[in-house]
Amino acid sequence: MPVMIVTGASRGIGAATARIAAANGWDVCINYLSDRASAESVAADVRAAGRRALIAQADVADEHAICRMFRVVDEELGRVSALVNNAAFTGSGRRRVDQMKAADVNAVLSANVTGTIVCSREAILRMSTQHGGQGGAIVNVSSASSRIGAPNLWMDYAASKGAVDALTFGLAAEVAADGIRVNAVRPGLIDTDIHQKTGIADRLERTVKNIPMKRAGTAEEVGEAIVWLASPAASYVSGSILDIAGGR
Ligand code: NAP
Repeated sequence: MPVMIVTGASRGIGAATARIAAANGWDVCINYLSDRASAESVAADVRAAGRRALIAQADVADEHAICRMFRVVDEELGRVSALVNNAAFTGSGRRRVDQMKAADVNAVLSANVTGTIVCSREAILRMSTQHGGQGGAIVNVSSASSRIGAPNLWMDYAASKGAVDALTFGLAAEVAADGIRVNAVRPGLIDTDIHQKTGIADRLERTVKNIPMKRAGTAEEVGEAIVWLASPAASYVSGSILDIAGGR
């Protein structure tokens, strides 16, 4: 069975992706940072769909932890054929650039940019036909903030997602001849826990009025697109970024 690693799969978009992937025939590695109970609940749903599930705690900002996770996947599930770089760190609270500290910015970049690169490297080493692999797919989870910039909110996070967009284009070209497709989804406002970290209690309600569809999206609406991009049905799609933002 094909094996997918989803980073940040205990909650939100990652959890929905893991469940939809299982329904579409994937065995799934459910990575998480600290919420083991939620990861176990996702794993139970994957198994209920008849697929194998592996739970892997690893901070995507920690290179050694990432390498360990990929080795455990090799041993327990077999060679990975899809990676979803979904885990991300927003930083805490809303902030302006004139308040930012370098260490806090680096923490955001470390998880979102370096983490995406290191996870992709480990996946490429296993998927690439140049390394004896059979090809595969990488799907990055960017954000509409890469186009909007998130002023007065979390511009460092938005900048990290701009980097994810650039990585999607560059990596797609770099590994196309290795049998690996690389794409991204760029969600707009999606109803998940992530918004609690802004410190604006009613952020979802306030932002909805700027969205042409006048509603937030669901994690499942993003997960469906991720699983499609990872699947053979998207076999000629690479270097694409799919906006999932209700027309925003
Ligand atoms: P969420 O509901 O807050 O879930 C975040 C997930 O990532 C959790 O499973 C969390 O694990 C995990 N995680 C966080 N930091 C991690 C780290 N350093 N290492 C490993 N796992 C980590 O977030 P979400 O809204 O689903 O966001 C998922 C992705 O969508 C992110 O890339 C985000 O930037 C992007 N996005 C979201 C929105 C939106 O409106 N929700 C919009 C645009 C883009 P624990 O459960 O263990 O904490």
